[in-house]
Formats: sequence, structure tokens, C-alpha cells
Amino acid sequence: IQFNQARYATSADKLSQCPADSLAEVAFAGRSNAGKSSAINTLTQNGKLARTSKTPGRTQLINFFDLNLPGLRLVDLPGYGYAKVPVAMKTHWQQHLDTYLQKRDALRAVVLVMDIRHPMKEFDEMMVSWCQKTGMRLHVLLTKADKLTRGPAQSTLLQLRAQLQKRLGDRVTLQTFSSLKNQGVEELRAIISDILLA
Ligand code: GDP
Repeated sequence: IQFNQARYATSADKLSQCPADSLAEVAFAGRSNAGKSSAINTLTQNGKLARTSKTPGRTQLINFFDLNLPGLRLVDLPGYGYAKVPVAMKTHWQQHLDTYLQKRDALRAVVLVMDIRHPMKEFDEMMVSWCQKTGMRLHVLLTKADKLTRGPAQSTLLQLRAQLQKRLGDRVTLQTFSSLKNQGVEELRAIISDILLA
């Protein structure tokens, strides 16, 4: 897969607006400000593909990106948990995320983006539980790894790996990542390729 050829396809506010189920897609989820947009931009070497925002949580749309192989897509799910988003909007968001996760046949895996300094917040726990319940493949991206020195970064990775493998077995993988330092990009590409081409 040539990730740098990823192209914006469309946005959806609800499931009925989503493009027809493709062959296979991998969806990126994360709390607002975790570094999800930066991770997508780094993965695709496209600084503008996913919008990185200084006002996190504003994009409430599901964004679809076509990859260079027909039927393969990346999906950017709306960031969750920005304090200033009104409750009604959060509810709407949660509903359409739920529907997407439950109904999307093409969904092969969730990439859960977490700030390595603040892993496993409430939203993250919710996603992990959902993957546990449904058997969905999960890849955890511990991003902003440049904010920690190697020792603490590795120990967070190992600790979390042990914890999540207990719950999800070999359906979960984890890695450290840094958009700032371009760290972990090849590993992420390899994992997503494996999942989409399986
Ligand atoms: P999103 O809300 O999850 O899409 O988060 P963004 O990608 O917009 O990033 C939120 C903030 O974290 C921005 O100020 C980014 O510049 C910063 N950021 C994202 N990734 C990294 C990273 O790997 N390292 C560092 N140091 N900062 C990052």
C-alpha cells in the first residue's frame, strides 16, 4: 500500500451518509488532542489530510480516505471528549460512532491513538471494552513518545501490552509513535497493510 497516495474521499455525519461498504477499512479513534490527526498525516506523509486543530473536538464528522488500492480505506473517527463540546453534541457523536462501529462490515480494525503520557482514559477504556466484546482487532498507538525518554516510554508500552493482552489476547498490538520525530511510522504502515490485505 502506498500510504502517501491516500486521498480524501468523503465525510459523513451519520451512517446513512457513509460511502458504500468498501472491501476493508481501518478506523482511527482517540480522545481529542491525543494526536490522531497528526498520526494520520504522518502515516500518509500528507500534512493536510486529516485536519490538525488547535480547537480540538470540533470535527464531528467521520472522514474517509481512499488508499491507492481499490476498496481499501482509512477512516478518521471524530475526536472524543473535548470539554467545550455541548452534551447534546457528545450524545449525537456517541450515537453515530456506535452505529458506525456496529454496522460497518468493512471495518477490520480500530487504531486507538493515545497520548503516551495519559493512556487509558475513560474513552479509551470504552473502545477497549468494545473490542473485547466484539472481537474487533485493536492496534494501540502510543503517540507523542518524544515527550518521554526511552525508559519510561518502554515501560508504559510493556505494562499496557501485558494489561491489554490479558483481555484481548493476540487481537491487540501496541507500539510507540511520534509524529514529531517520525518514529514508528514504518511499523504502523506494516501493521495496517497486514490488516487490510489479510
Ligand atoms: P487530535 O485532536 O487527536 O487530532 O490531535 P492533533 O493531531 O491535532 O494534535 C494535538 C496536539 O498535539 C497538536 O498541538 C500537535 O502538534 C501535538 N502533537 C501531535 N502529535 C505529536 C507528537 O508525536 N509529538 C508531539 N510532541 N506533539 C504532538
